[in-house]
Amino acid sequence: MQFITKNTQETQKLVGKIIKKLVKAPRQGALVLALQGELGAGKTTFVQGLAQALGVKEKVLSPTFVIMKRFTIYDLCPSTSLGVKFTNFYHIDAYRLTGAEDTKELDLGEILKDKNNLVAIEWAERIAGILPADTIWLDFQHKGGDKREIKLKVKKSK
Ligand code: ADP
Ligand code: MG
Repeated sequence: MQFITKNTQETQKLVGKIIKKLVKAPRQGALVLALQGELGAGKTTFVQGLAQALGVKEKVLSPTFVIMKRFTIYDLCPSTSLGVKFTNFYHIDAYRLTGAEDTKELDLGEILKDKNNLVAIEWAERIAGILPADTIWLDFQHKGGDKREIKLKVKKSK
């Protein structure tokens, strides 16, 4: 599946269009959204839209200096209308993660196993080896000006 957005808001609204389908797809553990694309391509913008859709009130910032941030999804939030209830929403920036040691320290293995977790990972290609087979890959590309192309795949592109 492939989408073109013409501005920030459209990228954020895209979440609403695709998330219901994604949560219904069978999966082993966490729902993992792996975001790829160069700096400024719109990965963090998309995650902000995701947080809105989940009813997360806290502001989603670029996690570049944080690596991982967990948001609690409270009861009575719109996530119930997604058909599946998540307890935690993790926003991860894998840009500076270099390998198995780093991901172990973050307990990423445990986080990825838990069905109650929704995990969005920027620069996910850097830790592709530890991501579950049913990871959803989203490729972001600049298309000039405010245009962005977002491709959704179930397999990582080479
Ligand atoms: P990344 O996380 O991939 O580095 P960001 O989401 O942080 O990218 O930054 C995207 C930048 O591009 C933001 O400044 C945003 O306002 C701008 N922008 C312009 N058009 C779009 C669009 N169609 N989708 C997403 N962001 C856009
Ligand atoms: Mg970012």
